[in-house]
Amino acid sequence: MRSATFPKTRRILVGCVFHESHGFSPHITGADQFEIDRGMTLLMQARQSDTTLGGMVRKTEALGHEAIPAISISAPPSGRVDHGFYARIRIELIELARRERYDAIALELHGAMGTTELADAEGDLLSDLRKAVGPNVPIGVGLDLHAHVTPAMLDAADICIACKENPHSDVVECGERVIEGLLAMLDGTFKPTITMAKAPMILPGAAETAIGPLAELHARARSIQGVHPEIWDISIYNVFRYLDDEDIGQAAVVISNGTTESAISAAEELASQFWAWRERFRDDLLTIDQVLDVAAKDPQGRPYILADMGDRVLAGAPGDSTAILMHALSRGDELRGAIPVTDPASVEAATVAGAGARITLDVGGRLTPGFRPLRITGRVLAVGDGRFVMAGPFRGGEETSLGRTAVLLVEDRMCILLTSKPGFTHDPAAFTSQGIDLAAQDFVVVKSGYHFKMNFAGIGTPLSVATPGIGYYTRGQLSWQKARFWPEHDISAPRIEAIVHGRGKDIA
Ligand SMILES: [Zn+2]
Repeated sequence: MRSATFPKTRRILVGCVFHESHGFSPHITGADQFEIDRGMTLLMQARQSDTTLGGMVRKTEALGHEAIPAISISAPPSGRVDHGFYARIRIELIELARRERYDAIALELHGAMGTTELADAEGDLLSDLRKAVGPNVPIGVGLDLHAHVTPAMLDAADICIACKENPHSDVVECGERVIEGLLAMLDGTFKPTITMAKAPMILPGAAETAIGPLAELHARARSIQGVHPEIWDISIYNVFRYLDDEDIGQAAVVISNGTTESAISAAEELASQFWAWRERFRDDLLTIDQVLDVAAKDPQGRPYILADMGDRVLAGAPGDSTAILMHALSRGDELRGAIPVTDPASVEAATVAGAGARITLDVGGRLTPGFRPLRITGRVLAVGDGRFVMAGPFRGGEETSLGRTAVLLVEDRMCILLTSKPGFTHDPAAFTSQGIDLAAQDFVVVKSGYHFKMNFAGIGTPLSVATPGIGYYTRGQLSWQKARFWPEHDISAPRIEAIVHGRGKDIA
């Protein structure tokens, strides 16, 4: 008679450090901008959130293993993170990892976080974590596909994979897959090797994965995996555009089980294809007047959801632009709209005046270099604490904050949502939680370029608008110190070569 064997219960330390840091924003992101969870709160939040960490925790528990909470910090994209705050979080995470012997460590990291002192915070964090826990504890990382993947990260972690879609509809699956990989490592059936090739370029546009050149690249990646079962994952990273670091580029990262030959050729083929297709990565955006013309002339599509591309908080811009507001007020067509503006001083003034008061304020334009405030007069409809739970699907169920808020009604038709912090306005709950009726608007401005299309699906018609600001790449606009990439710099025929990283080198 065979003796029954019970699978061993694994103890996996889980955590999250999530921030996309705009290297050229003057806004420094401090502790007060982050949602910070520890202990049981972390686990309870993760169990109900559609995030990579949520996928990690739910998968671990569904398979009968134990998720041990470390720390989770998350903030909307903005300027570089205050280094002192980052250093404290790093120490806390490493102390927790060292306290006991865990079977594995699973982290959700954005992958494009910079601090006031470091361009590659994740590389620093993972290197220190590896030093702390030694070579034998598997470390798995789920990244955003806009990560700046660096050798430091790949040399320290055993598994680094991204979600595969932009907008990011598959972040939960990314977290689940990290756990599957770690458990397979612990069972001895998976010995991951990480191979990366990069093309020295950013994507000026065409950044969605369901259409255009990225859809073709992802289809090619899937077909390579179809004929090479030893390839466990291919992640294609479209690096965040505003990180001034060395080796910025489009990265193809292949994780294979032991062998590296097919991984090297896959990584080099995909990275080379980026370069060959570089001129295809362009957007066709409409001007502000063009989208307001559409909103005025075609009521069928209302409310139009206008992506303020230049001032995208989801690309790290401060969210203080008044460009669309100014145009909408100066037109004679009486359009009704809802527009978020980051402006803590105006929130304070409106709060002091109180709901119902009529006030004149100079709003916005104080954070982004070159912007100017706009003088408006309106009635304070409401003031609040700005906390809300995102409706999703992107980051649905996650609690977040706009900082303190005030809603100002201008000319009885324009709802200005004044926020103290740059916030996640890609989600309709950012507006509805503040008492703004979306169905009553002709247009709603969001500070997001892609994710709002998922979260506003069924609510309105998305349009992407060419607007000023630091949230949309324009050649020659910013002064790069370290990064060299197409189309900012003249680069001819780069050598695109795959490198096998870190711990996999010993296995290959
Ligand atoms: Zn992203």
